[in-house]
Amino acid sequence: MGSMRYGEDQVSLVAGTAAAVHELNEEQRAALDACVVAALALSSGEGEAQGRMRLLMECHGRYVRSFGVLEQAPSYEVFADRIRGSRVADLLPGRPERSVLGELWLLDDDGMPSSALHRLAVEASEHGHQAPGIGADIRHLHSLLRAVGMLPAGAGMSRITGETVQHAVFRSLRAAGFEAYTRGREVMVRTPVLTRRELSRNSALVELGAYTGISPTRQFGGLWAACPMCGWTMRAAYRPNGAVDLECEDERHSLLGARYRAEPTAAEGWRLAPRGELRTVPELRPMEGCVALPYALWLWVTLPGLLEVELRDRLVALGAQVRLWPFGDAYDLHVARPGRSRVWRVDVKTWADPYGLAQKLREDPEGPGELCFVVPEHLRGYLPLLRREVRGSGARVLTDTDLVAEVEGA
Ligand SMILES: [Zn+2]
Repeated sequence: MGSMRYGEDQVSLVAGTAAAVHELNEEQRAALDACVVAALALSSGEGEAQGRMRLLMECHGRYVRSFGVLEQAPSYEVFADRIRGSRVADLLPGRPERSVLGELWLLDDDGMPSSALHRLAVEASEHGHQAPGIGADIRHLHSLLRAVGMLPAGAGMSRITGETVQHAVFRSLRAAGFEAYTRGREVMVRTPVLTRRELSRNSALVELGAYTGISPTRQFGGLWAACPMCGWTMRAAYRPNGAVDLECEDERHSLLGARYRAEPTAAEGWRLAPRGELRTVPELRPMEGCVALPYALWLWVTLPGLLEVELRDRLVALGAQVRLWPFGDAYDLHVARPGRSRVWRVDVKTWADPYGLAQKLREDPEGPGELCFVVPEHLRGYLPLLRREVRGSGARVLTDTDLVAEVEGA
């Protein structure tokens, strides 16, 4: 129990970064952006050293400008040292206080990307597309958004939000018809990695261009391994001794045990061993012939979809009739029991940041109506807060376990 609690606090901490970034002023955001890209360049072995150095100098230039004339900006050497050794908040002009950024590092003790770094590159960086590694994923996402008309040609690269990405992807899948939409969305949830042959059988997904080659940050020696919980490619980091650490980019999955070490053996190539509590060891698969969702689609389509799909399966097993994602994406599940009049309209919310979720519930332009908002069981502690937010709207908030019990008992 003790370690579990710690894990959940960590999860909220990392997921709460989006809200913390939102509270920064323009100079602080510019400084954060420069530090994020620089940290990715410092921790990457990809590409030529000269190109990385140019990128680092450019980041330093932007970092210095973000300090304006009132504060002394650090030299390049101090900048690079700080990125390795400082908490995120201490890197920013004016050092924001009481921010979760005061508890995060960009790089870990070995100089490898921390779990917050990739997420910040996608969610909070204007220049993340320039960075080695994750930059390829971000560029792929930009071209996808541009192709579906969500990023005007010539427009500056802007920060990407989950809503923009979901809207773009779901709208373009719906254009292929309702069945193709539901099927395509379910494939992206259940199988964030496909063989090229499997992909070719789904023309709506081919058309969308959602899948791409596996990112260099999530493969090693031509191999990759899937997280046992979400099926996506785990991040691969070479250690100084030649071993490779694999870990799911989802902090929760990693804390629950999706962490492994691959070691080269003389006889049979690489061998994978668990580093966490999870004893299941995934298979190492060749990259050749495989395609995967980029980071942002895994983050905003696969991860929230896992609970929706799992809930559907559990309710169907109870004999309920369930429609997944009815009416476009007005809500997630329409649940009925044959021969009975009660109906549930369920919207699943998996934001690990309960304060961000409360804000979302408040801002919902449709008004929550008679919906049930369902949050994962591990966020049960936040029910009182969330219930306060929807009071008077007619909506209810419950956990997935509560909903299953309610449908079963009806
Ligand atoms: Zn995972």
